Amino acid sequence: MEPLDLLAPDHRGLLIGGAWRAADGDDRFEVTDPADGSVITDVANASVADAVEALDAAVEAQAAWARTAPRERGEILRTAFELVTERADDFARLMSLEMGKTVAEARGEVGYGIEFFRWYAEEAVRIHGRWMQAPAGGSRLLTIKKPVGPCLFVTPWNFPLAMGTRKIGPAIAAGCTMVVKPAHQTPLTMLALAAVLAEAGLPDGVLNVVPSTRAGEISEALMGDDRLRKVSFTGSTNVGKVLVRQSADQLQRVSMELGGNAPFLVFEDADVDAAVDGAMVAKMRNMGEACTAANRFLVHSSLAGEFAEKLGARMSALTLGRGQDEGVDVGPLIDEKAVDNVGRLVADAVQDGATVVCGGEKPDGPGWFYPPTVLLDVPVDAAINVEEIFGPVAPITTFDTEDEAVARANATEYGLASYVYTRDLARTIRMAEALDFGMVGINTGLISNPAAPFGGVKASGFGREGGFEGIEEYLETTYVALPAG
Ligand code: NAD
Repeated sequence: MEPLDLLAPDHRGLLIGGAWRAADGDDRFEVTDPADGSVITDVANASVADAVEALDAAVEAQAAWARTAPRERGEILRTAFELVTERADDFARLMSLEMGKTVAEARGEVGYGIEFFRWYAEEAVRIHGRWMQAPAGGSRLLTIKKPVGPCLFVTPWNFPLAMGTRKIGPAIAAGCTMVVKPAHQTPLTMLALAAVLAEAGLPDGVLNVVPSTRAGEISEALMGDDRLRKVSFTGSTNVGKVLVRQSADQLQRVSMELGGNAPFLVFEDADVDAAVDGAMVAKMRNMGEACTAANRFLVHSSLAGEFAEKLGARMSALTLGRGQDEGVDVGPLIDEKAVDNVGRLVADAVQDGATVVCGGEKPDGPGWFYPPTVLLDVPVDAAINVEEIFGPVAPITTFDTEDEAVARANATEYGLASYVYTRDLARTIRMAEALDFGMVGINTGLISNPAAPFGGVKASGFGREGGFEGIEEYLETTYVALPAG
């Protein structure tokens, strides 16, 4: 099956109120292959008026959807989980084509992303409030949970399926309706997912999808509307700040999954080979285009040479190429701007005195490729240690004491993921408490798990996706005061 076969021609339109349709004026935009810049297909380009119609549909569907049995909502999620799992290879190939990652990585994302549907299929039936006697006796206190109401979801291009399912899964389980605006670079995977949800029996209007190149205008219009009750955004910190400001007018609830600058700490008692294995995952997952990507490698000075050499050997053995080709380990970055940004950060670091262990030279030819790169002796204040790299570059700096390592790890505006390699149990506990990050991986380079609360602090945002916590983002609490019987 060709990747695009997953998506019927109709399904390259807008999905509003259960109908696939063209955008205003039949406007469309092209989706391109980052491996060579060629056009894959085009999809409908929603106008602001189209997006408002999508919100109308979500509002219209909300009351009936909120009344459905939790088991019914859970069964729809479960069916969609089964359908996507059956078609996992097709989803992976479609995602690889529009986003660039290898088919194997995309297959991993399908497995991870769709697990949010299974997890929240199981959580839908566990929504509950509480009942208690008032502390002074007499009255009884009852709390009940209700869906927040119509939501707007704005998702990024780096994980076209998982960044959607992390929001859609709990929203469906909670009984919310939604309008989804996927990233314009990667709308195809979201459209294919929407088609599967319809096939799984999701009622019309519960999920509406409006691909568009007019992200800012659409979010402004929908967030200015008091019928919209919740916004969940995954993307850059700058856009997140704009959306938080916009949410003030109608006081919508907001969840913000924003940028990261993850430290990867390797202590003097670490197993260096295990740390290199973990670094490969934490750095190279998604070509480094992940908000959880290890951004700064802080290695004890006694191990830094060995760590750099071993990591360099592993990184330089990776094969760069088109994500759909056999034997390729690393696909292209998303666009030219991404390659230029990574190139600028590496050039600055080298100018500031860093040594190139491997990589560092952008290959000639078409496509947005950047090679896996390791830099040693990177100055602490180099731009590459301050900004999010979003590419396959591992800058290494050294430290001598635990206090220095913690202070440097925390010296960032971000606070999403962090990683620690040590064999000292007491130190793992100290690190979990001292690191100012929403997530701490101990002796592992992979922390994302649908059963765990994913999210950050500081400029990485607020709110949690996944786990028991994830569904709370879509529930309101009503307190009912009752007299004693
Ligand atoms: P981006 O902020 O440019 O775009 C994200 C989404 O926002 C896209 O759908 C885009 O169309 C939309 N958008 C852009 N401008 C907007 C505006 N003014 N108003 C409303 N929507 C707007 O980010 P990106 O480049 O697509 O993604 C990369 C960023 O996302 C990185 O910073 C990365 O760390 C972050 N990210 C965070 C997480 C997380 O869970 N914390 C996960 C993945 C990516």
